[in-house]
Amino acid sequence: AIAPVITVDGPSGAGKGTLCQALAENLGWHLLDSGAIYRVLALAALHHNVDITSEEALVPLAVHLDVQFITQENKLQVILEGEVVTSQIRNETVGNTASQAAALPRVREALLRRQRAFREFPGLIADGRDMGTIVFPDAPVKIFLDASAEERAQRRMLQLQQNGLCVKFERLLSEIQERDYRDRNRAVAPLVPASDALILDSTNMSIEEVIEHALVYARNVL
Ligand code: C5P
Repeated sequence: AIAPVITVDGPSGAGKGTLCQALAENLGWHLLDSGAIYRVLALAALHHNVDITSEEALVPLAVHLDVQFITQENKLQVILEGEVVTSQIRNETVGNTASQAAALPRVREALLRRQRAFREFPGLIADGRDMGTIVFPDAPVKIFLDASAEERAQRRMLQLQQNGLCVKFERLLSEIQERDYRDRNRAVAPLVPASDALILDSTNMSIEEVIEHALVYARNVL
């Protein structure tokens, strides 16, 4: 028998992280934050001065990446080479570098096995861009969580304001549109909904509604 997977794919800022955490807690399942793996790889490349455009240099780094995910007091901690990098991997530089590295086919391939290793009983919630299409194509439940770019920029702005930061809406919006364009138009594993995914547009939904909707859907299928 093989453990069930719920895949949650979608553009950045759609609320996948929050939804996945809620699903994992609710069902008592494991959680894979695949974006964090790409971010950790990017951070490792920056630390070791590895050329981010060189597939040749990045593949061995990806294969030997010394990363651990541990849950402490209900919070997922990311550890790179023994160092806690949980908040460091969230900055813009790391995000952009990750998105560049993620466009390289052999880098993606090198990370496949590592991602699939998260599939354990009682089940896995997989958060990313290609979870339902490439990494877990046989997942019984697939969700594609979308929201308009404007709504995602708005949410991001509120989040930053709550952390005491002030950023222009137009700048956030153009950054989001740029990242979207790159993720949707790359040659390998572009961001597209799996043909059997439930498409959830959260533009006009509260996070509670999104969670409720996804849970009802998952329980019906499983
Ligand atoms: O989701 P997050 O913003 O943390 O992901 C960082 C970057 O990693 C994304 O912009 C995307 O380019 C890449 N990524 C990917 N495939 C995944 C998860 C993330 O290409 N499954």
